[in-house]
Amino acid sequence: MIETVARSCELVGLGVGIMQQIRILLVEDDPGHRELLKRILCDNRPHVHLTTASCKAEFQAEIINHTFDCVILDFHLSDSHADELIDLQNKLGRKSPAIVISGSDEQDIVVQSMRSGGVDFIHKDNAIEGTNLWDRINIVLNTHRQRTRERRQAIRREKRLLQLANRDHMTGLANRRALEQLIQGNGRGIFDRRGETSLVMIDIDHFKKINDQYGHECGDRTICAVADAIRKHISKSDAAIRYGGEEFLVILPGKTLESAVRWAENLRSDIARLALHHDNATVRLTASLGVVTDRSDHLGCETINRCDEALYLSKRRGRNQVCTAPMIDFDRIAANITVSDPIERLDFALSQMRPLLGPTQNNHLTHHSLEVSRTAYGVGKRLGMHAEQLDRLRYSGLCHDIGKMYIPEKILAKPAQLNDDEMYLIGRHSRDGADITQVLCNDDITADFVRHHHVRFDESNGDSQNAPPLGARILCVADALVTMTSDRPYQPARPFEAAIRELQQQRGRQFDPTVVDAVVEQPACVCS
Ligand code: GH3
Ligand code: MG
Ligand code: MG
Ligand code: MG
Repeated sequence: MIETVARSCELVGLGVGIMQQIRILLVEDDPGHRELLKRILCDNRPHVHLTTASCKAEFQAEIINHTFDCVILDFHLSDSHADELIDLQNKLGRKSPAIVISGSDEQDIVVQSMRSGGVDFIHKDNAIEGTNLWDRINIVLNTHRQRTRERRQAIRREKRLLQLANRDHMTGLANRRALEQLIQGNGRGIFDRRGETSLVMIDIDHFKKINDQYGHECGDRTICAVADAIRKHISKSDAAIRYGGEEFLVILPGKTLESAVRWAENLRSDIARLALHHDNATVRLTASLGVVTDRSDHLGCETINRCDEALYLSKRRGRNQVCTAPMIDFDRIAANITVSDPIERLDFALSQMRPLLGPTQNNHLTHHSLEVSRTAYGVGKRLGMHAEQLDRLRYSGLCHDIGKMYIPEKILAKPAQLNDDEMYLIGRHSRDGADITQVLCNDDITADFVRHHHVRFDESNGDSQNAPPLGARILCVADALVTMTSDRPYQPARPFEAAIRELQQQRGRQFDPTVVDAVVEQPACVCS
C-alpha cells in the first residue's frame, strides 16, 4: 500500500515523503456507492481531502466556496446530470478537471459528459476495480497541472515580452511606447489620480559635441550615466522614460511643484558632478530641465508639451538650469513687449501677467512693491545717493518681488509655517526676480539689487568685496519694514515702533547698520 501511495505521489509530480494534499469533490447520490467510492479514494491515503455532495445545490455550494484539484461526478443524479454540473462549474469560472462515472455505458452519456467539458469517463464497475480509479485520477491531475504550468509560463513570457517592448534596451528605462500606454490608460496605477503629479523633462546639454569629440560609444555611455543618475533619484511610484536620444521624462506622482523643482535641482547638480573617463580624458556634462505640475487627472500630451517648453526655456536661458511652467508665461509676454521705457515695460508685463496670478501674488507685485520702492527711495535719499542710483533703487523696489510670479498662490497665501520645499521655492524668487528685472530694464546694477535683496548683512562677514551692493541692503531693510507693518497671511500688521525695534535688534546681523541708523534717526524718511 505504501508503494501505491508513493506511486501516486510520483505521478502527481512529487517525491516520496512529500505528500501534497489532494482535494477531491465526489458527487454521488446513492449512499452505498458513495461509501464504496469514499473508501477507494481515501483508504490509506491521508493526503486525500475528500468532500462529498449528493445533489446539484450541494455541488454548487462546494465549488463556490472551495477549490478542488478534481471533481468526480456520478452521471445520473436525482436532480440533474453530470454534464449540467460541468456546465455550471464552467459558468462559475471554476476549472477543476471533472471525471464522470456511471453504471451505464450508453454512448450518449459518454458523449454528453465529454462535450460539456468532462476530461474522462469511467464505468462504475471499472472504477471500483483495483487502482483503476486512482490511475485515471493521477493522469487527470498530471495533465491538469502540466496545462496550468504551461498557461502560467505563457502568461509570464507574454509579460516579459511586453516589458521588453516597453523598455529602452540601452538604458533599461521605459520607452515612448510605455509612456503612450500610460497616457492612454490615463496613468492608472502610476498617477495618484486624486492629487497632483509633476513631470520633469531632462536634456543633456551640447550632447552632439560629446559624440563628435569622443565618439558615439562614449556618447552612449554618457546617456546611460544620466539614466543611472535619474534611477538613483526616483522611487517605486515614479516612472522614468527615455523620451528621445538624449532626452528623458520623469513622472513624479504626488509631487507638488516645489518638491519637483527641488528634486530637479538635485538631479541637475548630480549630473553636473558626473565625470566619465574616456581614454585619458574626463568627460563632463550638464543638463537642462523643465518642470510642470498639474492635477493628476489632467495629465496628457499637453502637459508633456508644456514640460518640453519649460526645458527649452532652460536651454535659451543658458542651459544647466531648471525652468518651470509659470516661467513660460512670462517668457511669452516678454517676447511681445514692444516699448523701450523700463517703467512702461514693467507696466505692460504686470498688466499681462495679472489675470494669470492670484490675489496674494498680485499684492506682492503691486501694492507691496510700490511701498518697498517708496521706502527704499526715502532711505537712499537720506543716505545721499545720487539721482541715477535713486532711480535704480526705485525701479528695483518695484521689481524686488517680481520673481514671486513663479511661486504658486497657495504657497504665498499659506497661513501656516512653510515646509522645506516651499521655503526652497520662495528662496528662488530673488534670482528669478533679478532675471526678470534684467529683461525689463536691461541694467545689471538694478538686477543685482533685486538678486541680493534677501542676503543677510552678516553673511559677507565684513568682507566688503563680497557684500551685496548698498541698493540691495537698502531694499532688504525697506522690504522688512513694509512687510512687518502690513497684514500677512500668517501674522497681522505690527505697529511702526515695534518694527523699528526689530530693525534695531537685527542691526549688524540681518540688516546693514548704516541703513538701520538712517531709518531710526529720521523715520520720516521712509514715510515720504
Ligand atoms: P542642446 O544643448 O541644445 O540639447 O544640444 P545637443 O547637442 O545636446 O542637441 P542636438 O539635438 O543638437 O543633438 C543631439 C544629438 O544626440 C544628435 C544625435 O546624433 C545624438 N544622439 C541621439 N541618440 C543617441 C544615442 O543613442 N547615442 C548617441 N551616442 N548619440 C545619440
Ligand atoms: Mg541636448
Ligand atoms: Mg523678496
Ligand atoms: Mg518684499
